[in-house]
Amino acid sequence: MRTFKSLFITVSLLSGLSSTFAADKLLSKVDLAAANTLRERALNDTTAGQLVESLTTEVGARPAGSTGDKAAIQWGLREMKRLGFSNVRTMEVTVPHWVRGEAECAVLAPWPVNIPTLALGGSVGTDSEGVEADAVMVKDIAALAALPAGAVKDKIVFFSNRMDRTQDGSGYGRAVAVRVQGPSAAAALGARAIVIRSVGTSPNRFPHTGSLRYLADIARIAAFAISNPDADALERQFASGKQVRMRLRSTARELPPEKSANVIGEVPGTDRANEIVILGAHLDSWDPGVGAIDDGAGVALVMGVAKLISELDTKPRRTIRVVLFANEEFGTSGSRTYTTAAQAESVRHVLGFEADFGAGPVWRLSSRVNPNQLPVVEQIFRATAPLKLARGANTATGGADLDGLARAGMAILSPDLDGTKYFDVHHTANDTLAQIDPGALQQAVAAYAVSAWLGAQYPGDWEPVTEVKPPRR
Ligand SMILES: [Zn+2]
Repeated sequence: MRTFKSLFITVSLLSGLSSTFAADKLLSKVDLAAANTLRERALNDTTAGQLVESLTTEVGARPAGSTGDKAAIQWGLREMKRLGFSNVRTMEVTVPHWVRGEAECAVLAPWPVNIPTLALGGSVGTDSEGVEADAVMVKDIAALAALPAGAVKDKIVFFSNRMDRTQDGSGYGRAVAVRVQGPSAAAALGARAIVIRSVGTSPNRFPHTGSLRYLADIARIAAFAISNPDADALERQFASGKQVRMRLRSTARELPPEKSANVIGEVPGTDRANEIVILGAHLDSWDPGVGAIDDGAGVALVMGVAKLISELDTKPRRTIRVVLFANEEFGTSGSRTYTTAAQAESVRHVLGFEADFGAGPVWRLSSRVNPNQLPVVEQIFRATAPLKLARGANTATGGADLDGLARAGMAILSPDLDGTKYFDVHHTANDTLAQIDPGALQQAVAAYAVSAWLGAQYPGDWEPVTEVKPPRR
């Protein structure tokens, strides 16, 4: 058994030698011509659009452990076989099985109103009476920590912070702490429940769900999200200076763990078949919508890319492996199982692509590669010129499902999907097929297809990335 760690050290020792030759190892004219063919075919290929339509119509919502989750696995196997992928299989994954149930949020005073709400993913429910208490508004966790002792004891805490709209998704990273850590942060100070302004940018009345993380040894309190316009209205109630009183109720609950699976298929490589170029997306989704942009589009994109590569006259040198990961949304179970299994495989994961940021278009090509491979990334970037991408830095973070492999040194190429409107829809009931622009999805397939193909053909070695990867949130 060859572990990542030993491999990592071995290749690191050799990297001084191989870098001497790196500049000579550029892509051939033949491979670049095939990339042009791929790009033009992708811009006219409707496979990805058909796949996301099929997944969202025939399966729909597929939260971990649900019947939809199981149906999605069968869908993935069926569609990979239909597309002619090789070695189509599942990898069993144990997943938590949380059930949303019903949720209610009401302001009782000063001015009564019922507010549409969603439990945060993983939240405990309340008892049948619900939680009724005076409410305290704070902006974020730092503001909560700055309150005087006892300020939120036996209270409901409302986190009012608003997420910024950004193209690269950085607004999400800055805002998401209240959702992930807010419940335990408030419970540690004696709060009975929390409500957050959704971590999302929808201007409409759509609450955004998403996972929370309870800390051990701290009481588990129920946690809810409300939409931006309702959060604005609730802020006006607080601004009156009158005491705000609320009632929250939820029937959310956790059932015993269930079996799920990663679904895997390949376009086998030729002379470097034992080197894997992995294309990842997640098969699960949250349940208010049908998971079209998160992450049906990503599933469709990576499958559409592999299908186009499989139809070229030339077979890829490295193996293109598509992995549809189980349960990204509530603990990345599929990724963790896959990463552990990969350490025991005789093949090596040398380059990764993840699609988990909507349905396109791609606006930038970023990377996280060993600096010795920057010349070939530049060549790949030039091959995407008609797609009018910006050139990103070599500091890509990659997605959640490939995080373990990337931290072990696997290179990442990141055709960055445009996130400007992504968080209008993310984790809401509005995540449906209607949010996908077929032309933008085809452009994204083209950007990924060119990059993945050329990554598979690179005549040099994709050397491990030795710079320590910061952990993802
Ligand atoms: Zn996602």
